[in-house]
Amino acid sequence: MIYLDANATLPLNSSAILAVKDFMDQMPGNPSSVHQGGRSSRAILEKARQTIADYVGCLSSEVVFTSGGTEANNMALKGFKGKPIVISAVEHASIRRAAPEGAHVVCVAKDGVLDLEDLDQKLEGLEKPLVSIMFANNETGVIQPIGQVVERVHALEGLVHCDAVQGLGKIEDLHFSELNLDMMTISAHKVGGPTGIGALIIKDGLPCASLLQGGGQQKGYRSGTENVLGAVGFAAALVEDSASSWQSVKVLRDFMESTLCAVGAKVEGRSTDRLPNTSCLRMPGFSAPSQVMAFDLQGIAVSAGPACSSGKISSSFVLKAMGIEADDAIRVSLSPRTTQEDVDSFVHAWKEIYQSQLLRKKEVS
Ligand code: PLP
Repeated sequence: MIYLDANATLPLNSSAILAVKDFMDQMPGNPSSVHQGGRSSRAILEKARQTIADYVGCLSSEVVFTSGGTEANNMALKGFKGKPIVISAVEHASIRRAAPEGAHVVCVAKDGVLDLEDLDQKLEGLEKPLVSIMFANNETGVIQPIGQVVERVHALEGLVHCDAVQGLGKIEDLHFSELNLDMMTISAHKVGGPTGIGALIIKDGLPCASLLQGGGQQKGYRSGTENVLGAVGFAAALVEDSASSWQSVKVLRDFMESTLCAVGAKVEGRSTDRLPNTSCLRMPGFSAPSQVMAFDLQGIAVSAGPACSSGKISSSFVLKAMGIEADDAIRVSLSPRTTQEDVDSFVHAWKEIYQSQLLRKKEVS
């Protein structure tokens, strides 16, 4: 299979596999136990936490492990009861659905970038708001002006949470303390780590309420025995692919886009800063679900919008938010494992599917 769905998930990379196997062989104890096995687990867990902290530019005490990006996003939005909440119109479902009724929703421009004027308007009169804006969009790859969001919100003594699930690993300047964020969400399975592990980075001392009541692990931020196996895999996965190896994926992505745009394709978000691996690619007149199936029959995995909706394929709310009424956009997302041959095969298949579609339309009319 040619796998061009990296934004949905990535297979475990070799460093993560090795680290996870090694941990399973040791069979240490519960990291909260005081005996030798427990202490050994605790040491392994804290080493993984430190590796992740160094990678994202925060203190290890600021890394709170969760079951993934979804839980971390829920925790960030639900941990500050009573605060006015502001999100963007293109956030992941785990932000949009966790936001309370009456949350303020900031629109994006046609290129997918946050409308800062609208943000200013939504912020007007709000007292110490909590603003959650994603680092990069999962469907278009469009990168948001998070630095400018932070400036505005901090001027109001508000808090900024950033869902950085798609930016992690792919972008060099994703650095928690340099961005001056208050909270940031990351997830392992988008960077070659295991599913079921992620983290909410919480600025030291910020009183984010726990979603779960229990043993008070992780300084009370997140009760429940820590997923040491997942944390070990997460830390190992992160160090395998450098941001520069993701950056080299851009050459393949740009080649694919320019070749296909020359024969009728359209790309949304292309005129602005994007993740190096993501393409929101439109085949005019051919619905995204039919495209996904046609590519699948040729052994190529792509997706129509987010993969997080229990296998459902629905039209993209992200494109709608960008003012684009179309159901012909698929998401093609490459990884450092994607080869030129993979891209050539995809380009060939795209042209073939497009041509046969045009022919069929001609026959019908
Ligand atoms: N945020 C974004 C931007 C995502 O793309 C995803 C998953 O696709 C999530 C959050 C949810 O992460 P997880 O699958 O780890 O729950």
